[in-house]
Amino acid sequence: MAQIIGFIGLGNMGGPMAANLVRAGHRVQGFDLAAASLNAAGDAGVTVVGSPVEAAEGADIVVTMLPAGRHVIEVWGEIAATVPPGTLLIDSSTIDVESARRAHALAEARGCSSIDAPVSGGTGGAKAGTLTFMAGGAAEAFARAEPVLKAMGKAVFHCGEAGAGQAAKICNNMILGISMIGVCEAFALAEKLGLSRQALYDVASVSSGQCWSLTSYCPVPGPVPASPANNDYRPGFAAGLMLKDLRLAQAAAAAAGAATPLGAEAAQLYALFDALGHGGEDFSAIIRMLRGTPGE
Ligand code: NAD
Repeated sequence: MAQIIGFIGLGNMGGPMAANLVRAGHRVQGFDLAAASLNAAGDAGVTVVGSPVEAAEGADIVVTMLPAGRHVIEVWGEIAATVPPGTLLIDSSTIDVESARRAHALAEARGCSSIDAPVSGGTGGAKAGTLTFMAGGAAEAFARAEPVLKAMGKAVFHCGEAGAGQAAKICNNMILGISMIGVCEAFALAEKLGLSRQALYDVASVSSGQCWSLTSYCPVPGPVPASPANNDYRPGFAAGLMLKDLRLAQAAAAAAGAATPLGAEAAQLYALFDALGHGGEDFSAIIRMLRGTPGE
């Protein structure tokens, strides 16, 4: 059923996601602080408006896709003061679990339904409409959100109550950050031992070392032709974004009292890589630093 959807945050992810909602037949009212993002969204059929409150005006559903928790709290604070009770608010940004729960509380105080629904799949998935959504919130809110999320993604999971979507996202990406470093160390060791990349790949990709970091984002050129290593480590998934997610995982672990020593180490290594000026490269490029040749 076609609906009126407010969409706030039309950047690298939000822009193509909003375009897919237009393609699915919805009327999308979009806002972003950046003129370039607004213009691109307008070209894709989004009705461009002048503020978050205008984007939410008359909308059945409002989606936010913003950089961090403070932006989400600010925008949800504004719209929760004006939307009619019953409006469904969806946040698909990757933010800290604490801010996600505060955003739900803002919605609830207004009598609105809400879900946190961060995504995996990157800008390619946003354009192709093949994102994975992991959602937290009440079952009723999830049921209303699901058809709209399916217009932007291929897999939609209800992970639990408020904040569970963000928890799933940072746990998954902590596995990813740690596993990439492990794969990079193995290729660096193989090089020193005179073992060819292809031989290590052939064995590990069908053995117990098999993982996504190896078989989809293989950090050396050759074995996986589509991996960013074959394209001078252009992202893909930028190291700076990996660092953001690892820091969110560390903040959540500290607040919850969970021991995550390898997650902490991975966050330190990506912080160093970022400080050396490589935050814009694909996260698999950290193999250069682990070999001792970060600028290669
Ligand atoms: P982006 O920086 O390209 O887009 C964010 C947009 O929000 C910008 O256009 C900015 O102008 C806008 N914005 C900031 N504050 C605003 C406000 N108060 N009102 C309206 N607009 C505002 O970032 P992105 O890559 O699209 O990422 C968005 C979110 O998705 C982030 O939380 C990110 O961690 C997450 N994410 C990104 C990827 C990825 O591969 N890029 C993958 C998964 C998740």
